[in-house]
Amino acid sequence: MKKLLLIFSLLFFVFTAESTVFGKTFVTIGTGGVTGVYYPTGGAISRMVNKKSDYGIKATVESTCGSVYNINAVLTGELEFGVAQSDRQYQAYNGLAEWSQRGPQKDLRAVFSIYPESITLIVSERSGVKSVADLKGKRVNVGNPGSGQLQNSKDVLAAYGMCLDSIHAEQVKAVEAPGLLQDEKIDAFLYTVGHPNGNIKEATSGRIKVRIVPINGPGIDDLLKKYPYYAKAVIPAKFYPNAVNEDDIESVGVKATFVTSKNLDDTVVYAITKEVFDNLESFKNLHPAYAALTKENMLQGLSVPIHQGALKYYKEAGLVQYINPELVQ
Ligand code: GLU
Repeated sequence: MKKLLLIFSLLFFVFTAESTVFGKTFVTIGTGGVTGVYYPTGGAISRMVNKKSDYGIKATVESTCGSVYNINAVLTGELEFGVAQSDRQYQAYNGLAEWSQRGPQKDLRAVFSIYPESITLIVSERSGVKSVADLKGKRVNVGNPGSGQLQNSKDVLAAYGMCLDSIHAEQVKAVEAPGLLQDEKIDAFLYTVGHPNGNIKEATSGRIKVRIVPINGPGIDDLLKKYPYYAKAVIPAKFYPNAVNEDDIESVGVKATFVTSKNLDDTVVYAITKEVFDNLESFKNLHPAYAALTKENMLQGLSVPIHQGALKYYKEAGLVQYINPELVQ
């Protein structure tokens, strides 16, 4: 029994930490719920890098609680890479929000940014919610602990003079929210996510009619002024033909970014960066949320230093000019 335990713990160590076995380096990418865009993004990146046998890298993907979880897991070394919202990257590095007790997380490193994500408010038509203000007293899923959207939900409510106590807040994973909405167990949910995605398709394709509600107005204008990481965003109505919306929906957005720890080996980070950037056109075909990606915009929206392995590639490829000089160390 003891022997078996030892074997299991060894295997656990071998397959969870960045490790080299028979000349192959194993890395794990932390993502989000399987119906979001982080999960297929982890899949897209790992498929690209695994195809090239000369890198000797075997990347695997893990479905996780989301941005905050991923950042913490790359910092402890439990995961090698994570997808994380740009606002959470900023907050972790500066010791804000979920990191206010633990302080600045200076080992966090950016690899690149990926696609835009929007704070998305989905409601059942029957709830009568037409604006964030109407959420008062409603049953709303604001996001699970560890997710990116939990803080975004709080910020949006605050912009309308509300807090979690103003609503019946649920904190379950986004993957469960469409089912709860369709079963009328909740009236609404907030999800910070790229578009189009399977989650909102699922939420809008059921028995009950569903609306995507705009996140705009004077309170939101103030929010945009107050926090540098938020930007205006638009959710195209055409992505969700079963929603009751006819017009595109105004919202607030951040960016999905790819992060790691300062302590991860340069050669691994270099290889992944090179593979994605050198084959950007094929990468873009892997998800419709990547449609507007360019090498230039994939170096924007970052707020922590660039990992040395990624920087080596950006220098070789002549891309450093697109990076905020403060992040080049
Ligand atoms: N933005 C969400 C989060 O940070 C995840 C979105 C997704 O999985 O696509 O938790």
